[in-house]
Amino acid sequence: MSEVLLRAEGVGKRFGGFTALQAVDLELRAGERLGLIGPNGSGKSTFVNCISGDFAAHDGRVTLGGQALNGLKPHRRARLGLARTFQLPQPFASLSVLENVRVPVLFASQPGSATARAMQCLEQVEMAGKADCLPKELTQVELRRLELARAIALDPKLLIADEAMAGLSNAEVDQILALLFRLNAAGTAIIMIEHIMRAVTAFAERLVVFVAGRKIADGAPREVLALREVEDAYLGR
Ligand code: ADP
Ligand code: MG
Repeated sequence: MSEVLLRAEGVGKRFGGFTALQAVDLELRAGERLGLIGPNGSGKSTFVNCISGDFAAHDGRVTLGGQALNGLKPHRRARLGLARTFQLPQPFASLSVLENVRVPVLFASQPGSATARAMQCLEQVEMAGKADCLPKELTQVELRRLELARAIALDPKLLIADEAMAGLSNAEVDQILALLFRLNAAGTAIIMIEHIMRAVTAFAERLVVFVAGRKIADGAPREVLALREVEDAYLGR
């Protein structure tokens, strides 16, 4: 077994009087492929925001590679090897595709030419041909690829992909899946948050289910999907 990469203990988040996330424990090993599922509003993105530091204040404790993340800004966590994509892609609108990827490359201050490294990231997501385009000229799937290239540019130990396949065709879903598999094969642990069950079950070695801000299941996909509570949550019973 590889070592624990991410450890979240008792993570919770309230918005005013509303509890969006409650006492979530989660451990992820280096190189693991985890699927995180749950109905809309069950707290998946809230959890990501707590892990990434986009929500500064929350209950509980989060460590990455043994280092405490609590209180660190998102850019500090990114330097430690944590990358996330957003449910809605957020490129710099006035920068070219290549420049959009050069920004995180420069931030991660990797050795060598930033432009060459950015091109390499674009090649990994099969977007090298679009290097000089502006984000507004890209299709939905190309925007998703750019979002992934920007995450890859950080050379992350952990990538959290928050609905990176939403709105894509079946063929496009397969392309993003292949890309995530390649990234994982190179050693990156991945948390895939996804409603497209075909994609999650193909990808995940382990499945975690959130319902109403709580983790209700964590284990082998086949066993988790067979649980009555999971079925009930999806059928809204
Ligand atoms: P999911 O990603 O599982 O669909 P979210 O984590 O986005 O769910 O949301 C969980 C709950 O928290 C929802 O009820 C949502 O309305 C609420 N919520 C999320 N972000 C905020 C916010 N910034 N302010 C207030 N409520 C929020
Ligand atoms: Mg979400």
